[in-house]
Amino acid sequence: MGGVMDKAVFPAGAYCRAVEQIIAAGRRMDRFGWVPATAGNISIRLPDGNLAITRSGGHKGLLGADGVICVDAAGRPRAAGDRPSAETLLHCQIYAHDPQAGAVLHGHSVASTVLSRLGGDALVLDGYEVQKVFAGQTTHAARVRVPIFDNDQDIARLSGVVAPHLDGMRAGYIIRGHGVYVWGADMDTALARLEGLEFLLACELEERKLR
Ligand SMILES: [Zn+2]
Repeated sequence: MGGVMDKAVFPAGAYCRAVEQIIAAGRRMDRFGWVPATAGNISIRLPDGNLAITRSGGHKGLLGADGVICVDAAGRPRAAGDRPSAETLLHCQIYAHDPQAGAVLHGHSVASTVLSRLGGDALVLDGYEVQKVFAGQTTHAARVRVPIFDNDQDIARLSGVVAPHLDGMRAGYIIRGHGVYVWGADMDTALARLEGLEFLLACELEERKLR
């Protein structure tokens, strides 16, 4: 793994599986156009509590093993010289808040960017069958509220704004003019939720064009 991994600390199997899943997730997000340029970041919680997370910069559709680094639960790199993305802190916040969270995805889609720029502090999704992809949703008839937070380059300050809203957040959240954060118990669940949320945002965007 290019010297990134300290075999004495990280079980090779778990770390290597996490790297493979992150690379595959990056390709899948790229196929949908959700990670333009160097946008987005992807992480998995390892059995020892550390995180495997994409390195700052680099295209998420073209990741190699060296595009993933290991950080501790506070986002500090485990290997000297590794530079985590500033947004690593938002991943750490989600894992700290939700003990069930095993994977976190962040992308910059057109739909999340455009819809969040229209104003408001949330998008309310109502009446869509696909809503059932979110935790606790068993019917299209229930409403799903996706909070929108103003973008901020000060990630510590942004995480402070997000913190009081994390309880009961089912479908993740949107940063205005920026993108979405979605998570799940494992990578497959997180990807399904991201795909579900992005499908719904794309539907909302199409519907507004027709009004
Ligand atoms: Zn971002």
